[in-house]
Amino acid sequence: MLKALLLTAYLLGHTAISMVLNAPISPADQISVTPPEVCNWADNKTAAISVTIDDGHYESAVKFNELQKKYNVYSTQFLITDTIAGNEERVKGWSDIFSEGYMDIGNHSAGHEIRYDESDSYTADELDRDINGAYTTLKELFPEQDVLAFATPWGQNSQITDALIREKHYANRSVGGGIVYWDTSVLYKLGSHVITFDTTAEELNSMTDKAISGGGWYIQLHHGLGDEGNAGDLITDITACEKHFEYIKEQSDAGKLWSGSFNDVIKYICERKTAKIEMLWTGKRSIGLRLTDDMGDNDLFDYPITLKVYLPDSWNGRIKVIQKSGTAIYPIESEDGVKFAYINVVPDRGNTIIKMNAW
Ligand SMILES: [Zn+2]
Repeated sequence: MLKALLLTAYLLGHTAISMVLNAPISPADQISVTPPEVCNWADNKTAAISVTIDDGHYESAVKFNELQKKYNVYSTQFLITDTIAGNEERVKGWSDIFSEGYMDIGNHSAGHEIRYDESDSYTADELDRDINGAYTTLKELFPEQDVLAFATPWGQNSQITDALIREKHYANRSVGGGIVYWDTSVLYKLGSHVITFDTTAEELNSMTDKAISGGGWYIQLHHGLGDEGNAGDLITDITACEKHFEYIKEQSDAGKLWSGSFNDVIKYICERKTAKIEMLWTGKRSIGLRLTDDMGDNDLFDYPITLKVYLPDSWNGRIKVIQKSGTAIYPIESEDGVKFAYINVVPDRGNTIIKMNAW
Protein backbone atom coordinates (compact mmCIF):
# COMPACT_ATOMS: atom_id res chain seq x y z
CA MET A 1 0.00 0.00 0.00
CA LEU A 2 2.71 2.43 1.03
CA LYS A 3 4.62 1.61 -2.12
CA ALA A 4 1.55 2.37 -4.20
CA LEU A 5 1.09 5.69 -2.44
CA LEU A 6 4.71 6.62 -2.98
CA LEU A 7 4.42 5.73 -6.63
CA THR A 8 1.33 7.90 -6.90
CA ALA A 9 3.19 10.77 -5.26
CA TYR A 10 6.00 10.27 -7.71
CA LEU A 11 3.67 10.27 -10.68
CA LEU A 12 1.71 13.25 -9.40
CA GLY A 13 5.02 15.05 -9.05
CA HIS A 14 5.83 14.44 -12.65
CA THR A 15 2.36 15.44 -13.80
CA ALA A 16 2.75 18.68 -11.86
CA ILE A 17 6.15 19.35 -13.38
CA SER A 18 4.84 18.90 -16.92
CA MET A 19 1.85 21.06 -16.03
CA VAL A 20 4.24 23.93 -15.30
CA LEU A 21 5.99 23.47 -18.57
CA ASN A 22 2.84 23.11 -20.64
CA ALA A 23 -0.22 24.68 -19.08
CA PRO A 24 0.05 26.90 -16.00
CA ILE A 25 -3.18 27.33 -14.04
CA SER A 26 -5.61 29.92 -15.30
CA PRO A 27 -5.33 33.51 -14.04
CA ALA A 28 -8.75 33.15 -12.36
CA ASP A 29 -7.37 30.50 -10.04
CA GLN A 30 -4.41 32.60 -8.94
CA ILE A 31 -4.48 33.89 -5.38
CA SER A 32 -2.18 36.30 -3.66
CA VAL A 33 0.23 35.44 -0.83
CA THR A 34 3.33 37.20 0.53
CA PRO A 35 6.43 36.29 -1.56
CA PRO A 36 8.84 33.75 -0.01
CA GLU A 37 11.88 34.84 2.00
CA VAL A 38 15.37 33.38 2.05
CA CYS A 39 16.50 32.38 5.57
CA ASN A 40 19.87 33.67 6.79
CA TRP A 41 21.01 30.24 7.91
CA ALA A 42 20.11 26.67 7.03
CA ASP A 43 16.88 25.31 8.51
CA ASN A 44 16.08 28.82 9.72
CA LYS A 45 18.53 28.44 12.61
CA THR A 46 19.38 31.68 14.44
CA ALA A 47 23.15 31.44 14.04
CA ALA A 48 25.86 29.27 12.50
CA ILE A 49 28.99 27.67 13.91
CA SER A 50 31.91 26.14 12.04
CA VAL A 51 34.73 24.15 13.58
CA THR A 52 37.89 24.56 11.49
CA ILE A 53 41.01 22.54 12.19
CA ASP A 54 44.45 23.43 10.80
CA ASP A 55 47.65 21.64 9.84
CA GLY A 56 46.35 18.07 9.45
CA HIS A 57 47.26 16.43 12.77
CA TYR A 58 45.92 13.02 11.89
CA GLU A 59 45.61 11.41 15.34
CA SER A 60 43.80 14.50 16.63
CA ALA A 61 41.51 14.44 13.61
CA VAL A 62 40.48 10.88 14.44
CA LYS A 63 39.51 12.03 17.94
CA PHE A 64 37.73 15.14 16.66
CA ASN A 65 35.77 12.98 14.23
CA GLU A 66 34.60 10.64 17.02
CA LEU A 67 33.33 13.59 19.09
CA GLN A 68 31.74 15.17 16.02
CA LYS A 69 29.79 12.01 15.26
CA LYS A 70 28.61 11.78 18.85
CA TYR A 71 27.29 15.35 18.90
CA ASN A 72 26.48 16.01 15.22
CA VAL A 73 29.15 18.65 14.82
CA TYR A 74 30.63 19.39 11.38
CA SER A 75 34.17 20.58 10.68
CA THR A 76 36.60 21.51 7.94
CA GLN A 77 40.20 20.30 8.09
CA PHE A 78 42.74 22.62 6.42
CA LEU A 79 45.49 20.37 5.07
CA ILE A 80 49.12 21.09 4.14
CA THR A 81 49.54 19.06 0.97
CA ASP A 82 53.35 18.50 1.09
CA THR A 83 52.91 16.62 4.36
CA ILE A 84 50.51 14.03 2.89
CA ALA A 85 51.15 13.80 -0.86
CA GLY A 86 53.00 10.54 -1.56
CA ASN A 87 51.96 8.93 1.75
CA GLU A 88 49.30 6.53 0.48
CA GLU A 89 48.43 5.11 3.85
CA ARG A 90 47.85 8.57 5.28
CA VAL A 91 45.79 9.69 2.27
CA LYS A 92 43.64 6.58 2.74
CA GLY A 93 43.24 7.39 6.45
CA TRP A 94 42.07 10.91 5.66
CA SER A 95 39.74 9.64 2.93
CA ASP A 96 38.16 7.25 5.42
CA ILE A 97 37.51 10.07 7.87
CA PHE A 98 36.09 12.37 5.18
CA SER A 99 33.85 9.63 3.81
CA GLU A 100 31.99 9.52 7.13
CA GLY A 101 30.64 12.97 6.29
CA TYR A 102 31.43 14.96 9.42
CA MET A 103 34.74 16.49 8.31
CA ASP A 104 35.52 18.01 4.92
CA ILE A 105 38.62 19.72 3.59
CA GLY A 106 40.18 23.07 2.90
CA ASN A 107 43.52 24.24 1.55
CA HIS A 108 46.21 25.32 4.02
CA SER A 109 49.02 25.72 1.41
CA ALA A 110 51.55 23.29 -0.01
CA GLY A 111 54.35 23.83 2.45
CA HIS A 112 53.25 26.17 5.29
CA GLU A 113 56.72 27.72 5.09
CA ILE A 114 56.21 30.90 3.09
CA ARG A 115 55.19 33.95 5.08
CA TYR A 116 52.72 35.74 2.85
CA ASP A 117 53.40 39.11 4.45
CA GLU A 118 56.93 38.71 3.08
CA SER A 119 55.75 37.59 -0.34
CA ASP A 120 58.10 40.08 -2.05
CA SER A 121 60.96 37.67 -1.40
CA TYR A 122 59.29 34.88 -3.43
CA THR A 123 58.67 34.47 -7.13
CA ALA A 124 55.11 34.45 -8.49
CA ASP A 125 55.61 30.77 -9.38
CA GLU A 126 56.61 29.85 -5.83
CA LEU A 127 53.55 31.60 -4.42
CA ASP A 128 51.26 30.09 -7.04
CA ARG A 129 52.55 26.60 -6.26
CA ASP A 130 51.98 27.16 -2.55
CA ILE A 131 48.38 28.27 -3.07
CA ASN A 132 46.92 26.98 -6.35
CA GLY A 133 49.33 24.07 -6.70
CA ALA A 134 48.09 22.85 -3.31
CA TYR A 135 44.49 23.22 -4.53
CA THR A 136 45.22 20.96 -7.51
CA THR A 137 46.95 18.40 -5.27
CA LEU A 138 43.96 18.30 -2.91
CA LYS A 139 41.59 17.72 -5.84
CA GLU A 140 43.84 14.87 -7.03
CA LEU A 141 44.20 13.25 -3.61
CA PHE A 142 40.54 13.63 -2.62
CA PRO A 143 38.48 13.78 -5.81
CA GLU A 144 35.21 13.30 -3.88
CA GLN A 145 35.81 16.44 -1.84
CA ASP A 146 34.93 20.03 -2.72
CA VAL A 147 37.70 22.54 -2.10
CA LEU A 148 36.21 26.01 -1.61
CA ALA A 149 38.36 27.70 0.96
CA PHE A 150 41.93 28.64 1.72
CA ALA A 151 43.32 29.26 5.20
CA THR A 152 46.43 31.43 5.05
CA PRO A 153 49.36 30.10 7.11
CA TRP A 154 49.62 32.17 10.32
CA GLY A 155 46.71 34.26 9.00
CA GLN A 156 49.08 36.39 6.94
CA ASN A 157 48.21 37.96 3.59
CA SER A 158 49.52 40.30 0.97
CA GLN A 159 48.00 41.77 -2.17
CA ILE A 160 49.62 39.19 -4.41
CA THR A 161 48.62 36.17 -2.29
CA ASP A 162 45.08 37.57 -1.98
CA ALA A 163 44.82 37.67 -5.76
CA LEU A 164 46.16 34.12 -6.10
CA ILE A 165 43.73 32.79 -3.49
CA ARG A 166 40.80 34.33 -5.37
CA GLU A 167 41.70 32.42 -8.53
CA LYS A 168 40.39 29.07 -7.25
CA HIS A 169 38.85 29.68 -3.82
CA TYR A 170 35.61 31.31 -2.71
CA ALA A 171 36.76 32.23 0.79
CA ASN A 172 39.80 32.81 2.94
CA ARG A 173 39.84 31.93 6.60
CA SER A 174 42.18 34.08 8.61
CA VAL A 175 43.18 34.16 12.27
CA GLY A 176 41.72 36.29 15.09
CA GLY A 177 38.25 37.53 15.93
CA GLY A 178 35.77 34.76 15.38
CA ILE A 179 32.20 35.93 14.91
CA VAL A 180 30.98 37.23 11.57
CA TYR A 181 27.66 39.01 11.52
CA TRP A 182 25.25 39.69 8.72
CA ASP A 183 27.82 41.52 6.59
CA THR A 184 29.32 38.50 4.91
CA SER A 185 30.82 40.56 2.10
CA VAL A 186 34.13 39.75 3.73
CA LEU A 187 34.43 36.16 2.53
CA TYR A 188 38.14 36.67 1.84
CA LYS A 189 38.79 38.09 5.30
CA LEU A 190 37.01 35.71 7.64
CA GLY A 191 38.46 35.76 11.14
CA SER A 192 38.52 32.82 13.53
CA HIS A 193 38.74 32.22 17.25
CA VAL A 194 42.09 30.58 18.01
CA ILE A 195 41.62 27.85 20.60
CA THR A 196 44.50 26.90 22.91
CA PHE A 197 44.93 24.39 25.72
CA ASP A 198 43.64 26.85 28.35
CA THR A 199 40.45 27.74 26.43
CA THR A 200 37.54 26.54 28.55
CA ALA A 201 34.17 25.10 27.55
CA GLU A 202 32.57 28.13 29.24
CA GLU A 203 34.47 30.52 26.94
CA LEU A 204 33.49 28.51 23.88
CA ASN A 205 29.87 28.36 24.99
CA SER A 206 29.72 32.08 25.72
CA MET A 207 31.13 32.89 22.26
CA THR A 208 28.40 30.62 20.90
CA ASP A 209 25.77 32.52 22.89
CA LYS A 210 27.11 35.78 21.48
CA ALA A 211 26.75 34.46 17.94
CA ILE A 212 23.20 33.32 18.71
CA SER A 213 22.16 36.66 20.19
CA GLY A 214 23.49 38.51 17.12
CA GLY A 215 22.47 35.93 14.53
CA GLY A 216 26.11 35.60 13.42
CA TRP A 217 28.56 32.92 12.30
CA TYR A 218 31.08 31.72 14.86
CA ILE A 219 34.26 30.32 13.30
CA GLN A 220 36.61 28.35 15.55
CA LEU A 221 40.24 27.50 14.81
CA HIS A 222 41.54 24.28 16.35
CA HIS A 223 44.80 22.41 15.76
CA GLY A 224 45.53 19.38 17.95
CA LEU A 225 43.15 17.66 20.38
CA GLY A 226 44.34 16.02 23.59
CA ASP A 227 44.49 15.98 27.37
CA GLU A 228 48.04 17.20 27.91
CA GLY A 229 49.52 20.61 27.22
CA ASN A 230 50.49 24.02 28.57
CA ALA A 231 48.45 27.21 28.47
CA GLY A 232 48.82 28.71 25.03
CA ASP A 233 49.61 25.44 23.24
CA LEU A 234 47.71 24.97 20.00
CA ILE A 235 45.93 21.93 21.40
CA THR A 236 42.25 21.87 22.30
CA ASP A 237 41.58 20.33 25.71
CA ILE A 238 39.55 17.23 24.88
CA THR A 239 37.37 17.55 28.00
CA ALA A 240 36.49 21.18 27.20
CA CYS A 241 35.90 20.19 23.60
CA GLU A 242 33.43 17.45 24.45
CA LYS A 243 31.51 19.70 26.85
CA HIS A 244 31.34 22.37 24.18
CA PHE A 245 30.24 19.98 21.42
CA GLU A 246 27.47 18.80 23.73
CA TYR A 247 26.40 22.45 24.02
CA ILE A 248 26.45 22.83 20.25
CA LYS A 249 24.13 19.83 19.99
CA GLU A 250 21.75 21.26 22.59
CA GLN A 251 21.55 24.63 20.86
CA SER A 252 21.21 22.99 17.48
CA ASP A 253 18.37 20.74 18.68
CA ALA A 254 16.69 23.85 20.10
CA GLY A 255 16.71 25.41 16.60
CA LYS A 256 19.17 28.15 17.52
CA LEU A 257 22.42 26.96 16.01
CA TRP A 258 23.42 25.49 12.66
CA SER A 259 26.55 23.37 12.95
CA GLY A 260 27.84 23.46 9.39
CA SER A 261 31.28 22.78 7.98
CA PHE A 262 33.12 25.89 6.82
CA ASN A 263 32.52 24.74 3.24
CA ASP A 264 28.78 24.28 3.72
CA VAL A 265 28.36 27.69 5.31
CA ILE A 266 30.37 29.30 2.48
CA LYS A 267 28.14 27.55 -0.04
CA TYR A 268 25.01 28.68 1.79
CA ILE A 269 26.16 32.31 1.99
CA CYS A 270 27.20 32.46 -1.68
CA GLU A 271 23.90 30.94 -2.80
CA ARG A 272 21.79 33.01 -0.43
CA LYS A 273 23.47 36.28 -1.42
CA THR A 274 22.72 35.72 -5.10
CA ALA A 275 19.40 33.86 -4.76
CA LYS A 276 16.42 34.78 -6.91
CA ILE A 277 12.94 33.35 -6.45
CA GLU A 278 10.60 33.40 -9.39
CA MET A 279 6.95 32.68 -8.54
CA LEU A 280 5.48 30.55 -11.31
CA TRP A 281 1.98 30.52 -9.90
CA THR A 282 0.06 30.62 -6.63
CA GLY A 283 -3.08 28.57 -6.81
CA LYS A 284 -5.71 27.43 -4.31
CA ARG A 285 -4.16 23.99 -4.10
CA SER A 286 -0.56 24.41 -5.23
CA ILE A 287 2.27 26.88 -5.59
CA GLY A 288 5.07 26.76 -8.13
CA LEU A 289 8.38 28.55 -7.86
CA ARG A 290 11.87 28.48 -9.27
CA LEU A 291 14.96 29.18 -7.16
CA THR A 292 18.17 30.19 -8.93
CA ASP A 293 21.47 31.72 -7.89
CA ASP A 294 24.31 33.47 -9.69
CA MET A 295 27.00 30.98 -8.66
CA GLY A 296 28.21 29.56 -11.95
CA ASP A 297 29.23 26.09 -10.76
CA ASN A 298 25.99 24.22 -10.03
CA ASP A 299 27.80 21.00 -9.10
CA LEU A 300 29.78 22.82 -6.43
CA PHE A 301 26.98 25.04 -5.14
CA ASP A 302 24.53 22.30 -4.24
CA TYR A 303 23.65 23.14 -0.64
CA PRO A 304 19.90 23.45 -0.01
CA ILE A 305 18.75 26.96 0.88
CA THR A 306 15.95 27.29 3.41
CA LEU A 307 12.99 29.35 2.22
CA LYS A 308 10.12 30.68 4.30
CA VAL A 309 7.17 30.16 1.99
CA TYR A 310 3.86 31.84 2.80
CA LEU A 311 0.79 29.73 2.13
CA PRO A 312 -2.90 30.36 1.49
CA ASP A 313 -4.98 30.77 4.68
CA SER A 314 -7.06 27.71 3.96
CA TRP A 315 -4.10 25.28 4.04
CA ASN A 316 -3.64 23.07 7.09
CA GLY A 317 -1.48 20.21 8.28
CA ARG A 318 1.42 19.48 6.05
CA ILE A 319 2.64 20.34 2.58
CA LYS A 320 4.32 18.22 -0.02
CA VAL A 321 7.28 19.75 -1.82
CA ILE A 322 8.16 18.20 -5.15
CA GLN A 323 11.47 18.70 -6.86
CA LYS A 324 13.40 16.74 -9.46
CA SER A 325 15.60 15.37 -6.68
CA GLY A 326 12.61 13.97 -4.77
CA THR A 327 9.62 14.75 -2.61
CA ALA A 328 9.63 15.99 0.99
CA ILE A 329 6.92 16.70 3.54
CA TYR A 330 7.00 19.80 5.78
CA PRO A 331 4.67 20.98 8.56
CA ILE A 332 2.58 24.12 8.06
CA GLU A 333 3.23 26.71 10.74
CA SER A 334 1.16 29.72 11.63
CA GLU A 335 1.77 33.03 13.36
CA ASP A 336 -0.97 35.62 13.96
CA GLY A 337 -3.12 33.69 11.52
CA VAL A 338 -0.48 33.81 8.75
CA LYS A 339 0.38 30.38 7.32
CA PHE A 340 3.88 29.48 6.20
CA ALA A 341 6.41 26.65 6.01
CA TYR A 342 10.18 26.38 5.93
CA ILE A 343 11.34 24.32 3.00
CA ASN A 344 14.79 23.37 1.67
CA VAL A 345 15.54 23.89 -2.00
CA VAL A 346 18.79 23.43 -3.93
CA PRO A 347 19.13 26.35 -6.36
CA ASP A 348 19.24 25.84 -10.13
CA ARG A 349 17.53 22.45 -10.07
CA GLY A 350 14.40 23.39 -11.97
CA ASN A 351 10.90 23.99 -10.62
CA THR A 352 9.68 23.45 -7.07
CA ILE A 353 6.03 22.58 -6.58
CA ILE A 354 4.30 22.92 -3.21
CA LYS A 355 1.02 21.09 -2.72
CA MET A 356 -1.51 21.42 0.07
CA ASN A 357 -2.62 18.63 2.40
CA ALA A 358 0.16 16.10 2.28
CA TRP A 359 -0.80 12.85 3.89
ZN1 LIG B 1 48.78 26.42 10.19
